[in-house]
Amino acid sequence: MYESGRIIIRRLPHNGDLVNEITELARREGITTGTVSAIGAVKRARIGYYDQDARLYRERDLEEPREICSCLGNISLKEGEVFVHAHVVLADGEGKTAGGHLCPGTIIFAAECRIEELRGCPLERGYDDETGLALWVERE
Ligand code: ZN
Repeated sequence: MYESGRIIIRRLPHNGDLVNEITELARREGITTGTVSAIGAVKRARIGYYDQDARLYRERDLEEPREICSCLGNISLKEGEVFVHAHVVLADGEGKTAGGHLCPGTIIFAAECRIEELRGCPLERGYDDETGLALWVERE
């Protein structure tokens, strides 16, 4: 069970790396569990798709500027460190969208970010054998 904590609204820096900037913001604010959303635009992007059979992320680069139609994610702890997991939907100049797992290498043109802190037992990730992913560890 979690309770809503602080809500942080922040503009992220031009030319910053989207997932890294969100992670840094959460770290600076001491937020270990929470939710994230952002809108804005990117100069380029790197998005991933988890290949469930091969159990690995297939990443691809989108070289053109795009709108961030949606960036949604969460904050938890992975190996004791603040970890942001986020997905994006990005639109090109014709409104065509591409989306996936947000990877480092997505460069901000402009971004407005909202982080909501969740207060309670810190949410932690651990290796999940069924999926090969670092998923939230269930607690009793
Ligand atoms: Zn993902």
